Amino acid sequence: MYAFAYERPATLAEALALLEAHGPDARLLAGGTDLIIRLRDGSARPAVVIDVKRIPELCGGIREEDGRLVIGASTVMTDIAADARVRRRFTALAEAASVVGSVQIRNRATLAGNICNASPAADTATPLLVYDATVVAAGPGGLRRIPIDDFFVRSGVTTLAPGEIVTAVELPFPDGPIGAAHTRRTRRRGHDLASVTLSCAVDATGRTRIAYGSVGPRPVLVVDESGILADPVAPAEAKAAVLETVFAGASPSPRSMRASPEYRLAMLRVLGARAIATALDRMARG
Ligand SMILES: Cc1cc2nc3c(=O)[nH]c(=O)nc-3n(C[C@H](O)[C@H](O)[C@H](O)COP(=O)(O)OP(=O)(O)OC[C@H]3O[C@@H](n4cnc5c(N)ncnc54)[C@H](O)[C@@H]3O)c2cc1C
Repeated sequence: MYAFAYERPATLAEALALLEAHGPDARLLAGGTDLIIRLRDGSARPAVVIDVKRIPELCGGIREEDGRLVIGASTVMTDIAADARVRRRFTALAEAASVVGSVQIRNRATLAGNICNASPAADTATPLLVYDATVVAAGPGGLRRIPIDDFFVRSGVTTLAPGEIVTAVELPFPDGPIGAAHTRRTRRRGHDLASVTLSCAVDATGRTRIAYGSVGPRPVLVVDESGILADPVAPAEAKAAVLETVFAGASPSPRSMRASPEYRLAMLRVLGARAIATALDRMARG
């Protein structure tokens, strides 16, 4: 690894000042499970690495505020997967957090790092989309709230402005009962980035939110208001037609080493049908 300066600010204000001083030469470090690999292989060459792990404003854990669950930026996957409120009310996010990497990775990997890295295969991206999450970012101009669907641009690129730091992710508690599920396809069991990720949430009106990733430059959210996908007696052909529309936004790369576009598109349909069935079953059970 080449030499770089290391800073460990004690406050958010200090971190923002460091970012402002170093501009594009600085990179934030949280759990390091993405960044350290990029530092090692030379694909990221910042002059300064700013370690944000100990900043109190990012370490708020998981808390309830004004009808929302607020997850501090430094919260790691292990804690998200274990939290009773996340498991009960945001089941797909708990499931996604519990399949990231391995135990060691989940003990380091933060939610903020997962979305800021903006991999199209990021497991937590699709549940955050179906739950209509908001990203809270602090910058030189103060706090900004970014709807998660406006956050992702393409691999490695988000709509965070230069100098901004994610401080938390907010999830509005659903108004009524919902059933949700996260699913994915990997090349093998054990830790691997997914060839396809998919989350869905169904509410009592039959509205179905489906988000899928790893099949294009960024994860895609589609909301089906027709009720057909959630209707147990709707004909299979009608459901298949709606799913075709839902998956129209998939554009898997032919150059990926993980899976062919044909395989990914086929798996998308399989995972979609399975996730909807699981979500409906969960809603019925309450
Ligand atoms: C072996 C292995 C297996 C993996 N398996 C999976 C998997 O199955 N699913 C999956 O989704 N991911 C997987 N990953 C990727 C990785 O673990 C996740 O993306 C992780 O959540 C990143 O979080 P981090 O805290 O380690 O981020 P870091 O590596 O510290 O940072 C990642 C990026 O986010 C930026 N960043 C971090 N915090 C902030 C912040 N507060 N504000 C603004 N920018 C910030 C950093 O500057 C950097 O660009 C795997 C990684 C490894 C090494």
